[in-house]
Formats: sequence, C-alpha cells, structure tokens
Amino acid sequence: MKRVYNFNPGPATLPLEVLQEAQAEFLNFDETGMSIIEISHRSKPYEKVHNQAKADILELMNLGDDYDVLFIQGGASLQFAMIPMNFATKDKPGSYVLSGTFSSNAFKEAKILGVGEVAASTKDENFCRVPTQAELKINPNAAYLHVCYNNTIYGTEFHYIPDTGNVSLFADMSSDMLSRPVDFKRFSLIYAGVQKNLGPAGVVIVVARKSFVENSLENLPTMLRYDTFYKKNSLYNTPPAFSIYMVGKVAAWIKNCGGLEEMARRNSIKAKILYDAIDTSDGFYRGHADKDSRSFMNVTFRLPTEDLEKKFVAEALEENLSGVKGHRSVGGMRASIYNAMPIEGAEALADFMNRFRKSNAR
Ligand SMILES: *Cc1c(COP(=O)(O)O)cnc(C)c1O
Repeated sequence: MKRVYNFNPGPATLPLEVLQEAQAEFLNFDETGMSIIEISHRSKPYEKVHNQAKADILELMNLGDDYDVLFIQGGASLQFAMIPMNFATKDKPGSYVLSGTFSSNAFKEAKILGVGEVAASTKDENFCRVPTQAELKINPNAAYLHVCYNNTIYGTEFHYIPDTGNVSLFADMSSDMLSRPVDFKRFSLIYAGVQKNLGPAGVVIVVARKSFVENSLENLPTMLRYDTFYKKNSLYNTPPAFSIYMVGKVAAWIKNCGGLEEMARRNSIKAKILYDAIDTSDGFYRGHADKDSRSFMNVTFRLPTEDLEKKFVAEALEENLSGVKGHRSVGGMRASIYNAMPIEGAEALADFMNRFRKSNAR
C-alpha cells in the first residue's frame, strides 16, 4: 500500500489508525448491518456517536457543562457571517484582529452587515506576525474580540491569549484546534472547520459558553441561529453524520495518545525539526513568520528563486513528501504538520531539505 507523508494544509492528513478503524466498520456499523452513512440520524447508534464526540471534545479541552459543542455546516467561512449576525449590532460591534487571510475574511462579513471594526492589523508587514497585546485597541463596548489563533496561510500562531478585559473573546482555531493545551475557559466561543486537524471536510465544531448561544438575536433565519443548534443538540436538521463520526474517532485517538499535552509534545518536536532546518540553512531557506509568531502547525518558507521552489516541490514528491507547495499569497513552501503527521514525516522532510540545499546552494 502506497501512503505518502501528506503535508497538505486542508483537507489534510488523518491518523492511519482512525482511517483503518473506519474502513473496518464501514459495511456493518455497530452491528446494524449498514454503514454509518446509511442510518438515521435519529437512531440510537448514531446518537451514541454524536454525543460521545461532544463529550470527548469537552473533556480534551478541560471544559465543564457551562460549555456546549455544536456541529454546524457551511465551513468556517459561514461562521465568519454567523458570528456577527448572532452577536454584533451597530451599538455593540464585533472587533477584529487582522492577522491573515481568514481573519480578514471574517472581518469582511461583519463589514457587510455594518457591525465590524478593526482592533489591530499586521497587514502592512505581509502578516509575518500576530499583533502583540500592546497593539490591540479593544473597544470596551465591543460585543466580542475575534482572533484567528493559527494563520494557516502565513504560518503564524498566537502564543498568548489576548487579555480583553470585559469583552468576550472569540477564536477561529480551524488549523490548531486540539493541537496543544490552551486555557479554553478564557474564550467564550471557539470554532474550527475540522478538515485541517480533526477530520474530513463537512462540519465545523463550535465550542461555546452556553450563556452565549442560548439566545440569538431576533429576526434571524432558523438555520443561521446558534440557539437552533444549541436547543436541538445540533439535530434540528440532518447533520453531516460521517464527518461527525470521523471527528469523534479522531478525538478518541487523541485521548488514547495521551491528550493535548502529548499532542503538544509531538507537535513541538516536529516544528523544531523543520524550523531548525530553516535556521541552519545559511539563508537558503527563509521563514516567512517572525520567530516569536511561528506556527506549530504550518511551517512557511521560501527558497532563493521560484525555479528552485518548483524543483523542490517536484523532487520532494519523488520522495513521497506530498503537499509542500505554499499558498499563492505567500509563495514558496508550506509544510502542514498537524496532529496526525508522524515525527518521522518531519524528519524525512528536514533530511530532504538539507540534501536539497547542499545540491542546489551556490
Ligand atoms: C481553512 C480555514 C478557514 C476556512 O475554512 P472553510 O471550512 O473552508 O470555510 C478558516 N479559518 C482558518 C484558520 C482556516 O485554516
């Protein structure tokens, strides 16, 4: 069986054990004689999967029953719109930290609704870092402060939790959710499109304080209201059962591995291996992110010329190192090293980087 080291940013690599488990029970799920994608979302076997996934996510995040997990479709991109629709008004606007493409897209939705303002931005520096606490201009009257915790495209990540005073903190954690322990209680609402670190595309997990999602603003359509998902246990309409089932399996896999502490241990080893390869390359590889904003999930770097970058991608693939091409807005390379990327994958890529540099440096 040919499997590559998959460095794609999303959809992305998943634990092999999880894929094998899903394969083994695909034709006969839980003795139903049917697959998980053929049974009713109102059936007992499905309900068990749904509720266990929620419980495991809360347990991993060390959150109590003042929080709930919602499963919503439409991608993280729909959350960009749902958040201001449900929480922001002209008098109490949503405040945004612009640290990359996705946080800018989130702000754009609030602006369309006329309820968004900017608390800080590093756009002038081509998003090579996240703003510092001192740079955040937090409107005390804001409905929330929205940050993107890991900037998938630029390869930067927050290494501190913003102090927002009395303003509620919201975070897009699509690309670093459950990658390390965080004091999640400091956040009122966290969301993640699961196709980066936690499962196949098709569902977003929203982890929120119940007091926040139990009452949405009036005049919102049913499917755009958080309180619909909250009050109906995310079963108002047919949920994306297969995606939720896979997320549940990934959450159980994280628990079995030793939880978020163990994920953080592995992820920091992988990140160090790759950043060391950049830092010891005599300038052949140039990291995009400032050192104190470097992401543990997406390692972005450039080579001396675009021709060498093309050659790097092609030769990496010959060694079964797949998906290392960067996003067009940054250029160069991006190695995404989510939870499921084994340490050996990072070692193989670093080894390739060193050999490639030696044969191509002038
Ligand atoms: C990929 C990504 C998104 C967009 O997710 P969709 O599910 O495609 O809408 C948003 N935010 C971050 C941080 C991402 O990495």
